[in-house]
Amino acid sequence: MTLEVLWSRLADIAAKSGMKCGRSDKCNAECCRPSVSGGEPGVTHPEIELINSFLAKHRGFRFYEAGIDSCKFLGKNGKCRIYAIRPIDCRVHFCKDESLASQSNRNASNLVEDYHSRHEAEFMETELIDSFRFSGEG
Ligand code: SF4
Ligand code: SF4
Repeated sequence: MTLEVLWSRLADIAAKSGMKCGRSDKCNAECCRPSVSGGEPGVTHPEIELINSFLAKHRGFRFYEAGIDSCKFLGKNGKCRIYAIRPIDCRVHFCKDESLASQSNRNASNLVEDYHSRHEAEFMETELIDSFRFSGEG
């Protein structure tokens, strides 16, 4: 299964269920903050390649920086700067799921777990890429 097919299946499951991101002005993107979400997203090599090509000038990436409680890709406006290619872990965090034990939720988790196991999901080491800054940032 390609990533694009998986994204589409996850979006389908979410659309047909009560699972959705209830993003509003009041949302502080808690799902992108490790103190709330419990850690950084797992990420597979196909996703790493995609994100690296998206960040064309950048030879590596990381999600969280020590001492900063937000994902590296979370913009100051509270929006994900790589939203179109965000990791599949980020595609299955739904604040508004009727039941975390729902069949829809299980279906989405199973798809992600299956992809992770076939592509050896891992967490990124952070030391390599401490120097990266998005343009316009200090
Ligand atoms: S899923 Fe994330 S962005 Fe969406 S409402 Fe919840 S915390 Fe906010
Ligand atoms: S990649 Fe985007 S959606 Fe995922 S944790 Fe980072 S800012 Fe949030």
